[in-house]
Amino acid sequence: MSPRAELLEIVSQLKNLLISYPQNGLDPSTALSPRSPVPRSPAKGEERGKKSRKVDLPKLSSESMSDPNAEQNHPTDLDSLRAFIGDCKRCKLSQGRTHLVFGEGSPSARLVFVGEGPGAEEDAAGRPFVGEAGKLLTKIIESGMGLKREDVYICNVVKCRPPHNRDPEAEEVQTCLPFLEQQIRVIKPEVICTLGRIAAQSLLGREFKITQERGNWFSFMGTPLMATFHPAYILRNPSRERQLKGLVWEDVQKMMRQLGLKVRRDE
Ligand code: URA
Repeated sequence: MSPRAELLEIVSQLKNLLISYPQNGLDPSTALSPRSPVPRSPAKGEERGKKSRKVDLPKLSSESMSDPNAEQNHPTDLDSLRAFIGDCKRCKLSQGRTHLVFGEGSPSARLVFVGEGPGAEEDAAGRPFVGEAGKLLTKIIESGMGLKREDVYICNVVKCRPPHNRDPEAEEVQTCLPFLEQQIRVIKPEVICTLGRIAAQSLLGREFKITQERGNWFSFMGTPLMATFHPAYILRNPSRERQLKGLVWEDVQKMMRQLGLKVRRDE
């Protein structure tokens, strides 16, 4: 892509992002929170714990502030954010969904996993990562990291299942992303782990080459972000299962070190 075409693409993405915020009842001025792919290590003297991080809550747009129910809908915790999203019809993914899959886990999780969007089983259950890929993710969390699934938080970039498991479209991602951003503001995790290419490129706001770039630290809203393979990708490539699991385990160990967790054994 030429520099001019790239610049036009960036301007167009920025415009769409700014348009999507008021549509979702969020203040567009909060759209430009830091999303730089620069690795973030805790600053000198900065406490590692989540309590030290400044909470930058988005304001509701003036339109929704005039709503008498706005106060009770103010999404400053996960339940009120879920209520704020409501029976969402903001994009066309709502037309085919059975359940909106908001996310689940600890509201004070130190680690948040982000997938791309619910699949058939998640859509039926209304819960993220409950199918085969979810079982593998749970194994990584519990057997690999020595945590409980309910200790972390698991969610997706888009909250409704794309038809036939297609990739979510850019417009769908832009419409739903403010809700993931607000989940991150509320939870204030110390590490975010994106699963697969789509989740990484949605959060980093650029094309992402998962085979070349996974295993590196990036940053999303000031939080260290580790990008690794999607568990479904491992399941779809049984001939490379051992190799792919080894690479994911390397990435998981980096996150464990960042979180100060003891690496118990070599998977
Ligand atoms: N794949 C995802 O990206 N998310 C889910 O919730 C399930 C499968």
